[in-house]
Amino acid sequence: MRALTFDGSLSLRPRHPEPRPEVGDTLLRVRQAGVCATDLEIVKGYMGFRGVLGHEFVAEVVSSPQKDLVGERVVGEINVVCGRCDLCLSGLSSHCRNRTVLGIQGRDGAFADYVRLPAVNLHVLPKSVDDDAAVFVEPLAAAFQVLKQVKVDPKKWVTVLGDGRLGLLVAQVLADAGCPVRVIGKHPDKLALCEKWSIRSRPLSDINPRHDQDVVVDCTGGASGFELAMQMVRPRGTIVLKSTFAAGKPLNLAPLVIDEIQVVGSRCGPFREAIKALAEKRVDVASLIHRRVRIDQGVEALELAGRPGVLKVLLTMD
Ligand SMILES: [Zn+2]
Ligand SMILES: [Zn+2]
Repeated sequence: MRALTFDGSLSLRPRHPEPRPEVGDTLLRVRQAGVCATDLEIVKGYMGFRGVLGHEFVAEVVSSPQKDLVGERVVGEINVVCGRCDLCLSGLSSHCRNRTVLGIQGRDGAFADYVRLPAVNLHVLPKSVDDDAAVFVEPLAAAFQVLKQVKVDPKKWVTVLGDGRLGLLVAQVLADAGCPVRVIGKHPDKLALCEKWSIRSRPLSDINPRHDQDVVVDCTGGASGFELAMQMVRPRGTIVLKSTFAAGKPLNLAPLVIDEIQVVGSRCGPFREAIKALAEKRVDVASLIHRRVRIDQGVEALELAGRPGVLKVLLTMD
């Protein structure tokens, strides 16, 4: 099969071996996949991952121990967990100590013709969620996770830092929850998207941080976003960190202590809520698609996705 792999360098392998399902696994034929910042960070060395990349996808079930799934169109949760460790047994299975993560940690991902996952990870899609929307379920679920972790209400001042793929999803989810969110970004075309969604936005160059925001959600993908968040959040406010980045740089954390800031790390989220929001058209993802690229041009697709201002690049398998 075709697969986009990383082993210190990125390459498209036209004859990569198909995945051999382990007991309990379901074999999926990938229809379409999305490139995300995490993929780009992996290529720079994040997580030390080696193997097939890709964790945002929509697929068709080829074979499964759960027979009623065969032929269904599905999306899949990316954490594969043991169910036996202390964290799994205490209800924190997304933090399983023995987990593998699709295309990120110890498990081949979805930038390939075929991928395998346990049946319990899969969610069957309603017809109202087409393949283009389905690719956004995983990152949209990650956006919904912010609502699980921080209480927002119409009176709170909330800023999303970053007008990239994830920032624009987080902003829409917060706005949908009734929060008068504001987006800070660098790209006029993306800030124009916010206007289309009736979400307030400001260019980064206009910002004069005043330590007055109740919540700042950092979706910039870089260390400078966290620094700015510390200048924008009010004393006893909350910073939600959505950025995972490979490059380390010295950070002065004293403002966290002085202003008694809560920092909340935020990763994967609820698939069901993301699917429901897409089915009810409460979130616009079609506007976020930058280009469709065949997997055969996968190396170029990742290069394209890494250019400033480029939103979602989709990999198609046909
Ligand atoms: Zn992702
Ligand atoms: Zn576990």
